[in-house]
Amino acid sequence: MDIAGTAAAIRGGDRRALARAITLVESGRADHRAQAVALLSALGRDRQALRLGLSGTPGVGKSTFIEAFGMLLVEAGLRVAVLAVDPSSARSGGSILGDKTRMERLSRHPAAFIRPSPSQAQMGGVARRTREAVALCEAAGFDVVLIETVGVGQSETMVAEMCDLFILLMAPAGGDELQGVKRGIMEMADLILVNKADGDLLPAATRTVADYAGALRLLRRRPQDPDGFPKAMPVSAVSGAGLATAWAEMQTLAGWRRAHGHWDGRRADQAGYWFTQEVRQGLLAVLDREPARGVMARLAAEVGQGTRPPEAAAAEMLALLGRGAPGA
Ligand code: GDP
Repeated sequence: MDIAGTAAAIRGGDRRALARAITLVESGRADHRAQAVALLSALGRDRQALRLGLSGTPGVGKSTFIEAFGMLLVEAGLRVAVLAVDPSSARSGGSILGDKTRMERLSRHPAAFIRPSPSQAQMGGVARRTREAVALCEAAGFDVVLIETVGVGQSETMVAEMCDLFILLMAPAGGDELQGVKRGIMEMADLILVNKADGDLLPAATRTVADYAGALRLLRRRPQDPDGFPKAMPVSAVSGAGLATAWAEMQTLAGWRRAHGHWDGRRADQAGYWFTQEVRQGLLAVLDREPARGVMARLAAEVGQGTRPPEAAAAEMLALLGRGAPGA
């Protein structure tokens, strides 16, 4: 692959080059990995998009929201990329998120780029490659990169580690229940958007917004937030109500964080997080390859037979790795 040429094409806005580069970062092949690393380095880091993480359980209206919200952004003259982290695709082998047919208008718009979730690799792998896809979209000059994920476990944490603003999309709740939302998720949210605030659901949505607003006020004040944030608001992806206000709030928050150093601070923290993740994953991969795998198996057998205590076997293995012997 012509790394410099591909980098120039991506920076010049060549969508096919971008799509091919995303396929490259998703590949598990060692030679592809080396090319991906070289390409990401060659792209530079002078361009920054607003990275928006969007999470919500299936059925809450994520696709409908992205279609409507994405159209609002492109019609305001912005270029929008949509990526997905879908933990279920690791099992099913196919992506349910980022389905273009559910974002029909947006996917046809020349200022939008929609990429479904990669269908291989385990969760950590999918998230890692998505982060690299975000970097590629940024280099390609998109103004906003939306990263969609379903509201389950680890994927949300991963997405929160790759976005500037984390948005939780919720459904109107019956009564005053908060849908069993975990405190950890609430703490990650910068904006809680209660969707489906329309028609018969409007009263329930209004109550739900008030409930979340109350719950958010109970959380510890975060240094990266101006007064009034995190915030809960009603939206309707179907009618479009509240979308422009939500966008205005996102810009307010992002602008404040930029002005107060929290934007750069968060990105620096995230870069450190992913560096550590890469090294850890890389070490685990070394253990899964020969010759380390064979040594592990031999030591495990000895431990199983009782001829060697586990801690002694572990110490030997780590010493071998430390010398760079069985592995890299
Ligand atoms: P996802 O699984 O989170 O991507 O949810 P979808 O976007 O596929 O939406 C799930 C269902 O909720 C669909 O039947 C949508 O038409 C409906 N829906 C989405 N947004 C709204 C909304 O703002 N108002 C109403 N009334 N229904 C909505």
